[in-house]
Amino acid sequence: MSVYPRYSATEKDLSNLIEKLRLPGYRAKQIYEALWSTRIALEAATNLPQSLKEILEERLPLSLDMTTEEVSADGLTRKWLWQSRKDAAQVETVLMEYPSRATVCVSSQAGCAMGCTFCATGQAGFERHLTRAEILEQVLRAAQSSNRRVSNVVFMGMGEPLANYDETWGAVERLHRDLGLSARHITVSTVGVVPGIRRLAAEEIPVTLAVSLHAPDDDLRSTMVPLNNRYPIAEILDAAAEFAASKGRRVTFEYACIADVNDTDYHANALAKRLIPLGSLGAHVNLIPLNPTEGFSTRGSSTVRILDFAARLRMLGITATIRRNRGTDIDGACGQLRSRVAIGPRPESDSTP
Ligand code: SAH
Ligand code: SF4
Repeated sequence: MSVYPRYSATEKDLSNLIEKLRLPGYRAKQIYEALWSTRIALEAATNLPQSLKEILEERLPLSLDMTTEEVSADGLTRKWLWQSRKDAAQVETVLMEYPSRATVCVSSQAGCAMGCTFCATGQAGFERHLTRAEILEQVLRAAQSSNRRVSNVVFMGMGEPLANYDETWGAVERLHRDLGLSARHITVSTVGVVPGIRRLAAEEIPVTLAVSLHAPDDDLRSTMVPLNNRYPIAEILDAAAEFAASKGRRVTFEYACIADVNDTDYHANALAKRLIPLGSLGAHVNLIPLNPTEGFSTRGSSTVRILDFAARLRMLGITATIRRNRGTDIDGACGQLRSRVAIGPRPESDSTP
């Protein structure tokens, strides 16, 4: 019996399936359109008979069961915790709604092996890579629950997407070709897996690259991001420059601001100095107010400090923006819902700026 995970089934898989079921060929097209063009749940497709929907439950099974859904107080951010039907691995997804569109933040792994000290996912360790079907299902199910059009997908949930390159890229291709997302609206965020950045630079689809830098020098960065010992900043910037040159696209550098650790004038000056050589295309720094996690006692920077840090970067010729934190009341940051459910209550949020 042919069974295909619902969101990794290709058009050819759907045709094969419909043929095996001895149903008319147009059914394959209807299923494909329901899944990718109209982006509805198959159960809601009015042009498919109930008997076929029941068969598809088995032949095109979903990969994830919802365990928790949380909605922020303003109703604009939603977060889900899913459980894999196969092995109960936990996966989280965030939907952020804006006036006329929505962004989905997806996980690429259950857990993460990179062990960044300030990150709840890193603190919890690695479970396994997610499949492209599981990555795509997060986007599609989030889209189905929103009446805004999902226009952006960011790989900023749990996991390191470039450590799960093939499944991540398989998902990116389908988001671009089947869901019709523009390449620049698909953002792959990496902690600095240099060979992965170079592979991305060679791909045809020019996605947006975000690199989580967090520090201007190797000594400091290595205390926050263990992978820095393997791929130091100079190598990361070199790979980022290659990406920027081959895609004609500015690279975003994420920088989580931690009070007195990486947020002083000294750090801003040093950061600007490192990023200026990226050249005319330039770099864009996105400052992230640190979200508190249980396993990391250091405080996030104050809002005033982040504003000053951004102003200094701009003065030195680097574009800088500050990420508005969404859904902090539902732990809308990387890895945080999972850790709360798995470990206990989240820490007091008085250290959030
Ligand atoms: N592994 C990838 C993508 C997932 S993490 C990466 O590290 O880039 C997505 C973003 O959330 C990264 O920029 C990461 O540094 C940031 N992040 C992790 N923990 C955080 C925290 N406690 N507060 C603020 N940002 C955090
Ligand atoms: Fe993994 Fe990214 Fe968290 Fe680091 S910040 S532990 S790479 S998810």
